[in-house]
Amino acid sequence: MFTKPPLPYALDALAPFLSQETLEYHSGKHHQTYVDTLNTLVTGTEYASMTLEDVIVNAPKGPIFNNAAQIWNHTFYFDSLSWEKTKPEKELLEAIEKKWGTLEDFQKAFSEKAIKTFGSGWAWLVVKPDASLDIISTSNAETPVTTEDVPLLTCDVWEHAYYIDYRNARAKYVENFWNIVNWEKVSERYMQ
Ligand code: MN
Repeated sequence: MFTKPPLPYALDALAPFLSQETLEYHSGKHHQTYVDTLNTLVTGTEYASMTLEDVIVNAPKGPIFNNAAQIWNHTFYFDSLSWEKTKPEKELLEAIEKKWGTLEDFQKAFSEKAIKTFGSGWAWLVVKPDASLDIISTSNAETPVTTEDVPLLTCDVWEHAYYIDYRNARAKYVENFWNIVNWEKVSERYMQ
């Protein structure tokens, strides 16, 4: 049985940037439904006894992959957020400055990638195999888990992530995303 990890904060912790209602739907309904659907799909299959990561890597394109990858992506997204004001630690900040010049320039580039992702998907800060940082965008349930890239941060740009609070204004959602990024967690991922 796959389960949804509990949110690392209260449902109202990210307001006003993300409302309690958004988290109730996004975590309590969307994320939970991926878990429930995957459990139904894998019953009696070889995937039932695998780790979530193994399901993602081994399942062919289709419902099992989609639901498993969406569980993983959402857990990673919610773990990337915090109500506390945090900053990137020294090593990560240096790597960001090396690639983009300043933290602000990185945020601008990441925001642009998130806003311009066509349809449903995700924007990611990743570490490439050559140890450099990069910003990538994935469609639908696609995830860096199936690649050599190591994800550090993600922004969910499916409409369900922002429609309750921002309606169609994805750019406003992405702008406010920077108020709730858990840089402590992103830095920790970079140091691993
Ligand atoms: Mn989502």
